[in-house]
Amino acid sequence: MTPACAQRPILLWRHASFAQLRKVRAVAFDIDDTFTSHGKITPQAFAALWKLKRAGYALVPITGRPAGWCDHIARFWPVDAVVGENGAFAFFMRDGVRRRHDTPGPPVREERRRLLAGLGDRIRAEFPDAQWASDQDYREYDLAIDYCEDVSAWPDFEVERLVELCRGAGAHAKVSSIHVNAWFGEYDKVAGFRSWLEAGAPGLNGPVPAEDEWIFVGDSPNDEPMFGAFPLSVGVANLQPFLEQVEKTPTWITDSQSGDGFVEVAERLLEARGMDE
Ligand SMILES: [Mg+2]
Repeated sequence: MTPACAQRPILLWRHASFAQLRKVRAVAFDIDDTFTSHGKITPQAFAALWKLKRAGYALVPITGRPAGWCDHIARFWPVDAVVGENGAFAFFMRDGVRRRHDTPGPPVREERRRLLAGLGDRIRAEFPDAQWASDQDYREYDLAIDYCEDVSAWPDFEVERLVELCRGAGAHAKVSSIHVNAWFGEYDKVAGFRSWLEAGAPGLNGPVPAEDEWIFVGDSPNDEPMFGAFPLSVGVANLQPFLEQVEKTPTWITDSQSGDGFVEVAERLLEARGMDE
């Protein structure tokens, strides 16, 4: 049987042509295990982000992480905006003030709380040992169930059973490298990113890059909508075990995992434009 990943051959990032990369002016990227490595941001990865910033690239992390984190990221990282909670909103800075753009689609606050509480009760009944992610209190739009971050890794079939339970309850559910995220409302990372872009890409200095000037970097099945939506995309090497789970695969894959893979991406982009040091 042909594996799903064979539907579109994935090329090695180190073979990406400079002609193709030269037009890239904006980098959207996942954070966990794409930018971070084993739960930390390495000096090399953060330096690579700064190099891209100084070279004039627009930078937008797109993450399942919560509003509380995104407030920090928008304020302190060298980025133009951050799309959080799997596309629920974008946070950005303007005139020294942290502002937000909410993606249309989620139920209003009270209804959302009621739906999430009901789903939480069902999860607790079916998975009595399940734990909310440590960042749950800083979330506005979703539930995050920890299956691999601060708990012993769940077996795959239990993760799948949890995802099915959430979907059966009418929620969207996505598996990141550490959490299962579940939410109500018709949006995902792509919708959140596009909504921010269509709002004029607030937070971004200068002209809004055209669609084919963006590149996306990710590592897991919850990045699949982005791999499908961006004309150019890269998976860091740790995407490999998940490839059979995703139908939309990235254009390229790096040799290195996680943050080292992100560094590879930054270096080749800068090299393609003759901006490497
Ligand atoms: Mg990730």
